[in-house]
Amino acid sequence: MLAETASTCPYCGVGCGVIIQTKTEAGSSEIVAVRGDPTHPANFGRLCSKGSNLHLTASPLRRLQARALRPMLRYDRSAALIDSDWDTALNQVADRFAQCIAAHGPDSVAFYISGQLLTEDYYVFNKLAKGLIGTNNIDTNSRLCMSSAVAGYKQSLGADAPPAAYEDIDQTDCLLIAGSNTAYAHPILFRRIEAAREQRANPAASQKQRPPLKVIVIDPRRTDTAAFADLHLPILPGTDVALFHAMLNHLLWEGLIDRRFIDAHTEGFDELKRSIRDYTPRWAADVCGIPQASIIEAAEIFARSPASLSLYCQGLNQSASGTAKNLALIHLHLATGQIGRAGAGPFSLTGQPNAMGGREVGGMANLLPAHRDLSNAAHRDEIARFWQVPTVPAAPGKTAVELFEAIERGEVKMVWIACTNPAQSMPNLPQIERALQRAELVVVQEAYRETATTRFADVLLPATSWGEKDGTVTNSERRISRVRAAVAPPGQARHDWAIANDFAQRLRQRFLAGGAASAERARLIQFEYSSAQTVWSEHRETTRDRDLDITGLSYDLLDTQGPQQWPYRSGAKSGTTRLYEDGKFATANGRAKFVPIDYRPVAEAIDARYSLRLITGRLRDQWHGMSRTGTLARSFGHAPEPTLDMSPADLQARGYRPGELLRISSRRGRIVLPVKADTSLRPGTVFIAMHWGSEYLSGLGVNTLTLPVNDPSSRQPELKHCAVRIDRAELPYRALMVGWLRPDELLVVREAVRTRVAHLEYACTVLLGRDQEGVRVRLASAQPIAADLLSDLQRLFGVSELPLLRYQDAGNQRSIAVADERLRFFMLVGDQQSHGWLTDLFEQSSTIGSIGYRLLMPTATAPGEIKPQGRLICNCLGVSESAITQCAEDIVDPAQRLQVIQSMLGCGTQCGSCLPELRQMVWSGSCNAISV
Ligand code: SF4
Repeated sequence: MLAETASTCPYCGVGCGVIIQTKTEAGSSEIVAVRGDPTHPANFGRLCSKGSNLHLTASPLRRLQARALRPMLRYDRSAALIDSDWDTALNQVADRFAQCIAAHGPDSVAFYISGQLLTEDYYVFNKLAKGLIGTNNIDTNSRLCMSSAVAGYKQSLGADAPPAAYEDIDQTDCLLIAGSNTAYAHPILFRRIEAAREQRANPAASQKQRPPLKVIVIDPRRTDTAAFADLHLPILPGTDVALFHAMLNHLLWEGLIDRRFIDAHTEGFDELKRSIRDYTPRWAADVCGIPQASIIEAAEIFARSPASLSLYCQGLNQSASGTAKNLALIHLHLATGQIGRAGAGPFSLTGQPNAMGGREVGGMANLLPAHRDLSNAAHRDEIARFWQVPTVPAAPGKTAVELFEAIERGEVKMVWIACTNPAQSMPNLPQIERALQRAELVVVQEAYRETATTRFADVLLPATSWGEKDGTVTNSERRISRVRAAVAPPGQARHDWAIANDFAQRLRQRFLAGGAASAERARLIQFEYSSAQTVWSEHRETTRDRDLDITGLSYDLLDTQGPQQWPYRSGAKSGTTRLYEDGKFATANGRAKFVPIDYRPVAEAIDARYSLRLITGRLRDQWHGMSRTGTLARSFGHAPEPTLDMSPADLQARGYRPGELLRISSRRGRIVLPVKADTSLRPGTVFIAMHWGSEYLSGLGVNTLTLPVNDPSSRQPELKHCAVRIDRAELPYRALMVGWLRPDELLVVREAVRTRVAHLEYACTVLLGRDQEGVRVRLASAQPIAADLLSDLQRLFGVSELPLLRYQDAGNQRSIAVADERLRFFMLVGDQQSHGWLTDLFEQSSTIGSIGYRLLMPTATAPGEIKPQGRLICNCLGVSESAITQCAEDIVDPAQRLQVIQSMLGCGTQCGSCLPELRQMVWSGSCNAISV
């Protein structure tokens, strides 16, 4: 029997609606398909390359292999986790937490949770920490994501509330995108931007002709988003404040500010004006490394457009000056009156699916429910009364970076980590590793069994995930959507809120039987939630008369009328599309504030020893630490393995060859990666995708290098930039193994391979393939790679017993297994010259024909007709770079060629995620060459 369930995509903050299709047989249901929800206002039926593959990540075989299925614990750090049960595991943790709190006080324990949790999960964790335990030591990975945007909004507009809505994209005349590769990070929103520009260029007969939509992109890289822009400002990393101030300086000189709006609705403008007097476009051109004319052009387009909207994300937020960057951009809107109108306003794009919901319930170290501030005594009293506890403690809790520093110092002794992977995502991973080793108890509540963080767990609690959970999330435009369960949880996995609730009940009993202070806190506080809805109803009550008041909403209303934007007050007929349309801001006097701020350079400047700027960012088809997307081989098609991306000029100047292994060092640690030429980068700047952790690489991953310096207001660390040095990695001993695996063993084998090679200086273990899936492991070492390790790996690939074509001499070894005339496995030890064509032959599953023993040839040139396919460009239809390159080669006109490619190959016609790159390939002529 087939059934459909409407829910929400669990990845980015666009918050797309999905329809999950399930099949039920013999009383057991499985997810078999997913499609976009045509009625959901965030996506109107569309999904990107990540969302459209969700069902594949939830298949029974993948759940069985990848998921945490039962509670596990260990009594000795040197031992492996062993299976346990919920009673044993939660009692053990409750005993340890109660003892620790009794001996060292409430602040000796901490929670580190996640913007991937649902609002209901967040609420219970927050109440558990601040209400029952009496510690504000609860922070979340949203600290790494949106806190600077929050601080910017609160300091200028008075509330943590993005004022605009997605429909403003359709109505704007100027779109300024700053620090966001929207094409990768928020693809469905990018589809909307493409459509808005197209609609302006070709209005329907019934529509009024409007001036073309102007798109300005500010980004150090020429990303797919930047390539789409009318004007790209490739500023030097971290110089955004200088740029925004210079734009405003120019507008002041030219009289392009809106004095009427400033006088009527803002305060502090004259002071700001004085403070930016010296930020001239000429000065900023030098600081930002872009032409003065571009700064002036951007300023004039922004101010002269009838409606200007800015979209921004981690390029502004993940910075030691993140709040200043947000403020400087908001100043541009306030000074020109570009806010509170259709198509105008500063609009931060939320990174995670529910970072906003987490803030709504106050699930951070400095917040309380319903946008109350911990520093406000009246707010603390309100919440203490609401939760029926004597007090909410006044001292702010430890924010993300501070928390792990306190754990390393031994100040915080026990940590509970839920639904996040700090051993992959935090900056300065060597410090995070030391902290987790020092902690007396590490509880990890997680849906996936093998993450960088679960390796540190003393107790592993299996949680439900997408397709199994029930609750709500809030997307970038303040829209609350329902998340619904389509299938039962696997194994013994439980909902996150239910685990926290169960634990709270057990801890409460211990408090009641124990010390006076804890007993007092535990006496009246309630943890009797029977469903996500009962949690949500309590959360709703905290919002009464607050800026995010949702007392007019209910699960019933969300179920019958669909997702709604807050505020949605009691008695209202609808939510609120746009904020501040009446010119009244959420500050005490209703006026928005200009906040004088100075430009500060990046926290870690380049110097003679660390002379390159490293910036980080996203891949198109992977999500965060890849716990979910990394279980699918097709997610690796577009970016098959981690690379250090470098401008061709830098490559040439340093004499590096594409593919060569380089050692990248910062002041915190080092990693080894192959280098890739990347024309989107300016010389002096290098790039590594943020996703790659120790799940795929030996060592700790990319965040070994990044910087833990926080923004002073938001406490958000500068994950986007640090100074690095690059040297050749002298690792002469090389090996490569590639093999197909059965679906029921794929992830288990990958993990077994990863574990065995993790000690090598360079080891990269990834999936490859599409319908058929396999594992590729690439190794490099300063010492010969042990023969028994190689045999062990071959055994894991299941080829020890197969007949192999073999070649061996003193330093080289090549083994190839063929099944049904196709490559089943190959291993190259020593000489790697043939890896390119062997991989092509393998991935294309072509018959080997008459190549025979020539498969063992150590040459870079294929012994037969093997076409290189390059990367996968279209994930939906599996269209490769080479197919696109060869299609319609004789058509000169780019627009016509794009049309022919789309109609012949279908790429760019499904989810659209590949369209920006496709367009670039056709327009830039890169259709003529396949990337290495
Ligand atoms: Fe999910 Fe993609 Fe929509 Fe983001 S844009 S919510 S990842 S489908």
